[in-house]
Amino acid sequence: MNALVYLDPGKIAWKEVPRPTVLEPTDALVKITKTTICGTDLHILKGDVPAVTPGRILGHEGVGIIEEVGSAVRSFKQGDHVLISCITSCGKCEYCKKQLYAHCEDGGWKLGHLIDGTQAEYVRIPHADNSLYAIPPGADEEALVMLSDIFPTGFEIGVLYGAVKPGDVVAIVGAGPVGMASLLTAKFFSPSKIIMIDLDRSRLDLAEKLGATHVIDSSGGDVVQKVLDQTKDGVDVAIEAVGIPQTFDICQHIVRPGGHIANVGVHGKSVNFELQKLWIRNITVTTGLVNTNTTPMLIKTVESNKLTPLDLITHRYTFDQFMEAYAVFGNAAVENALKVIISRT
Ligand code: NAD
Ligand code: ZN
Ligand code: ZN
Repeated sequence: MNALVYLDPGKIAWKEVPRPTVLEPTDALVKITKTTICGTDLHILKGDVPAVTPGRILGHEGVGIIEEVGSAVRSFKQGDHVLISCITSCGKCEYCKKQLYAHCEDGGWKLGHLIDGTQAEYVRIPHADNSLYAIPPGADEEALVMLSDIFPTGFEIGVLYGAVKPGDVVAIVGAGPVGMASLLTAKFFSPSKIIMIDLDRSRLDLAEKLGATHVIDSSGGDVVQKVLDQTKDGVDVAIEAVGIPQTFDICQHIVRPGGHIANVGVHGKSVNFELQKLWIRNITVTTGLVNTNTTPMLIKTVESNKLTPLDLITHRYTFDQFMEAYAVFGNAAVENALKVIISRT
């Protein structure tokens, strides 16, 4: 089969590799029909994720058809149409029982990281019963592939950890795929204002179309003052969806007393955590890895048209154009790319 293989920092190739097989009784082999590229794959490509070694097939998002299941798989059979979770989990350990699937004792973020991933014609999925979700008949595969990672991330770590409530003023710093997923899922709770903050004008324009009531172009500076000008005394919930110290700092300065900072961004370096200022204003700070425990609920919201992930897709390719898809996604600002879909045919 063909797959997108990480070779060395800066080097990937769409090349022929051996097809995976069922190794454990709990595995499923999935024939990928659609996959996508995540910002994390670009970090891997740069060499920023040392656990990814040369030869690894990348990708942790995908949908497909089950080709084969191991003898212990109970919920799925050959021919089933499935959504793959970016987090694989056993469903039985102490952490899984608490739905902290990211910390599963035999799982977590492995696909396209510690084991071969979804940017391939076939992928082996460990613990299939708990790591795959059935795709309802007639559902749109493109919409559902967006639920492998970015929508659960924006929803669970941004909106739910941020405890968005009806009438709240919400600010989202970072209008990338994850920030946009937070925007679309924050709307479930009818906040009174959603303020989207980014440097990229085209992303802010899309955010406005998707329901942001205010947008702030942070390239002009003075973001904190601009947010305070739009609110009485700051926001109830500040969602950090960039992952740099400056944007965490913005969140610390725009949140009002009693508010929440939900940090979604991955901060390689430490941030300036102003504990004293947060304490005196009764601010709750949350953060974490996506658990994908809300995926079944998100599938239902897509089915009932309460959630429209298709709005984030800007580019479409086929497997033989994988390298082009990476080139465009890797140059997202110039290419106006937000989410790219790569289909088998
Ligand atoms: P992305 O890089 O596509 O988007 C980030 C956005 O932030 C871009 O639109 C960029 O223009 C904007 N930005 C950059 N600097 C800015 C600044 N100074 N002010 C305002 N906006 C600025 O990233 P993404 O894929 O949307 O992911 C967002 C973050 O979420 C990343 O840090 C990613 O690693 C993290 N993430 C976390 C989890 C988790 O489990 N917690 C899962 C997936 C992704
Ligand atoms: Zn991802
Ligand atoms: Zn587990």
